[in-house]
Amino acid sequence: MTKVLVVEDEPGIARALQLNFKVHGYQSVLAHNDAMARRLAADERPDVVILDLGLPDGDGIEFLRWLRQWSELPVIVLSARHGSHDKVAALDAGADDYVTKPFGIEELMARLRAATRRSSARSESPQVQGADFTVDLAARRVTRDGAEVRLTPTEWSILEILVRNQGRLVSQQQLLMQVWGPAYAKETQYLRVYLNQLRRKLEKDPATPRHLITEAGMGYRFDP
Ligand code: CA
Repeated sequence: MTKVLVVEDEPGIARALQLNFKVHGYQSVLAHNDAMARRLAADERPDVVILDLGLPDGDGIEFLRWLRQWSELPVIVLSARHGSHDKVAALDAGADDYVTKPFGIEELMARLRAATRRSSARSESPQVQGADFTVDLAARRVTRDGAEVRLTPTEWSILEILVRNQGRLVSQQQLLMQVWGPAYAKETQYLRVYLNQLRRKLEKDPATPRHLITEAGMGYRFDP
């Protein structure tokens, strides 16, 4: 079941949205300010976010920038602001779509379906064949010399993020926020422990890794 995080401080609109999502078979959780939206985005792991820009404790754009540091979750901005400047600012900050209030519920539902479709298409990836091991992102399996390598869920999460970004540096903060959550952004020792475990399972010579590379002080990079 698709879970929608509704970030909206106006009780009437929030209630109408939640009722409507329920009727359409979606689950929803409600945040009526920025602080609560951040907590629920991290704890509830929603599939899509409906975001009002005018919140009592901040601007929805700030929430969006914060979210984009660690998540590619689809976000549809819902706003009473009609100016094209506001739309551009929201899209630049990482919004997937923008709906102006007052809006028709059928239009919002269509945009929500489109956003979740695009996001599931984005997450479908083929197998990544490395020199020493193969990662099947769809089946969540790693094989080495024809045999399956057993990974813990945390090891898998880290490997998956690195493999999806192959060849690119992934920052320590991005890994910590995506795997453990926003409260863990500074716990870099976790990464050292888990990367060492992954190297022992996957690298020919774990002491001189060729695939799970450390970029000192910055982050990690996967080279197939
Ligand atoms: Ca508002």
